[in-house]
Amino acid sequence: MCEEDGYLNEAELLEDPETEEDASSSWHPGKPLSYSTGTFKNGAIGLSNIGVKSCLNSLLQTFYMNEDFADILCRIGEATDNVPLERSFPYELLALFEEMQDSEEDAVSPYRILSCLRTHKVRLFSPYDVAELFSTLVNLLLEQMPHPYLEEKLRNLYTIRLEESMTCLKCSNQRSSDTNLLTIHLQVYHSRYHRTMTLERGLRRFFKTKKASGGESWCICPKCGEDSKSVKDERLRSLPRTLTVDLKRIRQRKSSQLQKINRTLTFPPTLDLSEVLDPEHLPEQEYAQSQYIYNIFAVVAHSGTPNSGHFCTYIKSSKDQKWYCFNDSSVCRVSWDDVKCAYGNTIFHWGVTACLLIYIQSDGK
Ligand SMILES: [Zn+2]
Repeated sequence: MCEEDGYLNEAELLEDPETEEDASSSWHPGKPLSYSTGTFKNGAIGLSNIGVKSCLNSLLQTFYMNEDFADILCRIGEATDNVPLERSFPYELLALFEEMQDSEEDAVSPYRILSCLRTHKVRLFSPYDVAELFSTLVNLLLEQMPHPYLEEKLRNLYTIRLEESMTCLKCSNQRSSDTNLLTIHLQVYHSRYHRTMTLERGLRRFFKTKKASGGESWCICPKCGEDSKSVKDERLRSLPRTLTVDLKRIRQRKSSQLQKINRTLTFPPTLDLSEVLDPEHLPEQEYAQSQYIYNIFAVVAHSGTPNSGHFCTYIKSSKDQKWYCFNDSSVCRVSWDDVKCAYGNTIFHWGVTACLLIYIQSDGK
């Protein structure tokens, strides 16, 4: 890496830019977004539909309206003319954010992001897998962040750090390994009696001891030295700054057709992890009570069938604490009751269902 590439030199990479400013640096962190523009004076603005049947616009809005995310991105500074194409995504995204902030139109076009993602061979046509595209975008940014310090900040913003323990049912030998996730996957199952699911129960079930399944169910236990059945459970290694939950509502039927499960799944505006999870699933380290509290920030929702349909996002503006629905080029004020429509309902086959929930720790300092 060298300045000619549009990047920082080695000496600059080792410094924490918050504490040390190198006068000779070619890097000038940009100004944070003001979130004071547009119809609502909070930065909210639409993204025009560019004919891609994808949740791309919805996800872009969850990044743009997230002040913590935008603050990190703004610090990459201005792109020089020499930013190589394979490193262009953070700069293209920042250029989009700046255009969104400065535009006097109702919506701006994300066309350049789309063509940038195509250059990076990002698959956009998996209309039902929002979490997959979300992870792809975050990982692409992590790979391309021009400064390790900012990469680390971004990683800390989204990573859910878990310790996975496998216990052999034959000899009780326990092994554990660390794993990092960007989203927690919760499968929404079909219920013949339309029983309501809750996010809290889903999360408890995710962390609870479960029989290792699939390829993991029969695994070599290092102590017995033979195949034995194991159970697995998860524990948070630390409290994540962002808790992103992927609600998997698509199942494959025997006919190999995809079916969407519209079953009701409720999610609360505030989640207290110390109440939702048992102590053995929480980090060993103790935190202040306020740090276990998570507030909902965004709900990406889908309406329609698995292979078609439409996405919109509900986002709570951190500027005015009000909810907005971002539906491509249109943005409108909504209430929490409107957001709750995304709980889903078996009666409405074309109804709106939440597929990605983003909670943010209320006191992440
Ligand atoms: Zn064993």
